Amino acid sequence: METGSPTPARLDPGLADELRRRLESEREELLAQAAGLEADFAHESWKEPRSDDDAEAGTATAERERTMSLARHARAAVGQIEQALARMDAGTYGRCVTCGQPIAAERLEALPAASECLDCRRKAERSR
Ligand SMILES: [Zn+2]
Repeated sequence: METGSPTPARLDPGLADELRRRLESEREELLAQAAGLEADFAHESWKEPRSDDDAEAGTATAERERTMSLARHARAAVGQIEQALARMDAGTYGRCVTCGQPIAAERLEALPAASECLDCRRKAERSR
């Protein structure tokens, strides 16, 4: 049968359910984390311009940058999780977005939001 369409990813339905639950609870945690960090950041920016001390101001800036970068990472992870959930709804979850091959179940268990198979992931990392 040469339809050109990829064979469906065969993910055990029990595993798919478990991964969906994990993705959803992880998303909740990350959203709470990001909101907490952003609240910290908003709070820190109030007190920030008071100091004339360069070292202290530098520390405050570094701290704010760290907070913002953690918040950004949490938001980016939420985005990946939402894409994974969208792929579940679309029935394309478990399939590499780059090469279309099924992603190993062990990889999905370790990293439910994975969008690429290990090969493509490695290639992407090497070309960076
Ligand atoms: Zn791939």
